[in-house]
Amino acid sequence: MYYVGAHVSASGGVENAPLNAAKLGANAFALFTKNQRRWEAKPLTRGSITQFRNNCERLGFKPEQILPHDSYLINLGHPEAEPLAKSRAAFIDELQRCEQLGLCYLNFHPGSHLRKVGEETCLNTIAESINLALDQTEGITAVIENTAGQGSNLGCRFEQLAHIIDRVEDKSRVGVCLDTCHTFASGYDLRDQDDCHNTFAAFERLVGFEYLKGMHLNDSKASFDSHKDRHHSLGMGEIGLEVFRFIMTDERFKGIPLILETIDDTIWSEEIQMLRGFARGE
Ligand SMILES: [Zn+2]
Ligand SMILES: [Zn+2]
Repeated sequence: MYYVGAHVSASGGVENAPLNAAKLGANAFALFTKNQRRWEAKPLTRGSITQFRNNCERLGFKPEQILPHDSYLINLGHPEAEPLAKSRAAFIDELQRCEQLGLCYLNFHPGSHLRKVGEETCLNTIAESINLALDQTEGITAVIENTAGQGSNLGCRFEQLAHIIDRVEDKSRVGVCLDTCHTFASGYDLRDQDDCHNTFAAFERLVGFEYLKGMHLNDSKASFDSHKDRHHSLGMGEIGLEVFRFIMTDERFKGIPLILETIDDTIWSEEIQMLRGFARGE
């Protein structure tokens, strides 16, 4: 089955996220379990945790249909000791929140070297951060999102994702989320069926579909290979609709959350219906 949804609001409490997803007709969703632009967060209350779990169960959202995203402040590859320690502590807190909610994934951006250390050193630091965090938690898979490669952000090349995974000790608890906008902006074409075939064949060769735990479905305002992270609604940007038709008719994308992060949330339910239509061959 295809699990299609969007990154919904959790304002007023995480327990509202499954309700917001259900209103869209989604059978998957993403959420932040805390304010993504702040370091500090109050612990989840027992009531919030219970209601989240109850709402998910009642509305039919299983853990593998939910892809929580961590805070934008965290940099697991930070070149300096103190901010790295702060990031690692915050990441462990995020994983623990997911544990409390009964979830199985945490989606995060790998990190950036801030032009202070080399790429390989930074990738090794990221892998070490993942190892430390997995050691202190149970049952959650760390899902690395590919980036658009803006600034000094790593994780835009499939080789970089493979380098990190290679150094993670517990391979059963590391995965990848491919964002179509980031993929395209970092120089992997997705505009026609041949492009899609080639790009995902490269992913299979360099990383492997066994690590694919989720997708972010976004069109791109920025042009091909621009290394800019600018999402757009499906079919309105530089990529066009073919990649979404490709994904919705390829078995390798079944059984993982396919999440819209497109810019107009008023058309999310239409976008979900369109994607389901593609799966039916429309
Ligand atoms: Zn992201
Ligand atoms: Zn994304």
